[in-house]
Amino acid sequence: MSIPTILKARQSVAEGTMAFHFDKPAGFDFKPGQAIDVILPRDGIANDSPDARHTFSIVSAPFENELVVTTRMRDSSFKRAFGSWPIGDPIEIEGPFGSLTLPKSHARPAVLIAGGIGITPFMSMVRHANKNQTQQDLLLIYSNHRPEDTAFLDELQQLAKSNPRFHMVATMTDMDRSSQTWASHTEQVDANLIQEATKGLDTPVFYVSGPPGMVRAMSKILDEAAVDEEDVHSEEFYGY
Ligand SMILES: Cc1cc2nc3c(=O)[nH]c(=O)nc-3n(C[C@H](O)[C@H](O)[C@H](O)COP(=O)(O)OP(=O)(O)OC[C@H]3O[C@@H](n4cnc5c(N)ncnc54)[C@H](O)[C@@H]3O)c2cc1C
Repeated sequence: MSIPTILKARQSVAEGTMAFHFDKPAGFDFKPGQAIDVILPRDGIANDSPDARHTFSIVSAPFENELVVTTRMRDSSFKRAFGSWPIGDPIEIEGPFGSLTLPKSHARPAVLIAGGIGITPFMSMVRHANKNQTQQDLLLIYSNHRPEDTAFLDELQQLAKSNPRFHMVATMTDMDRSSQTWASHTEQVDANLIQEATKGLDTPVFYVSGPPGMVRAMSKILDEAAVDEEDVHSEEFYGY
């Protein structure tokens, strides 16, 4: 059943990447890592059509009093409408749903591997863990083409400094096209990078989120590293 809400604000969070802020409906409850369907009611377009409805992970954490989703602004009918939706106008959401959520027990570390906009479910987890001072080690491995494309990079770098339980290894794989400097990794996430980054973590649980090709490549690497498939959770974002 869809729930009415209001688009409150829209803001750029990286090149070609927008965050959309909604009123959080009363009683709306979710776990970090879950997603919603955003429905743009438009004359002549059925609400269940892909032109009216898209799935997005919730970027905001449960303690925040708004719901935020973030997306790459491609030239699809839905995204053209979303990008020009008047601030203050009603939209609908459905959810929350999805099981890309951290376990209740904080005993085992979690390794979060994000490709590009696949960062969205992990932002909610990292913000939630920071706010609640969760006693679980979180390692984010975050791959992007360039710093310019990297959503939430500043915030994540700040969190890695202020929260001793949160660590980030970021890699920029197309620095030739960047006008910024980057003094860290530039290789694609591969078995070596994962092995080096996770050294010292005791039997971590893995979470992978990003474009389908990237998710499949990471699943293969983890399988070859003999990680139990029950310890690998993933979400594929189609369309990228
Ligand atoms: C649980 C979940 C969470 C997501 N969270 C986010 C998020 O936080 N941010 C974000 O930007 N995107 C997210 N996505 C992806 C998002 O729903 C859109 O698919 C994506 O943004 C592309 O939309 P588009 O309008 O640019 O392209 P579209 O025109 O919708 O799609 C582009 C291409 O992808 C194909 N495609 C679309 N959906 C599917 C599908 N389900 N199966 C196979 N092929 C498909 C289309 O046929 C088309 O060829 C999420 C998806 C899921 C399932």
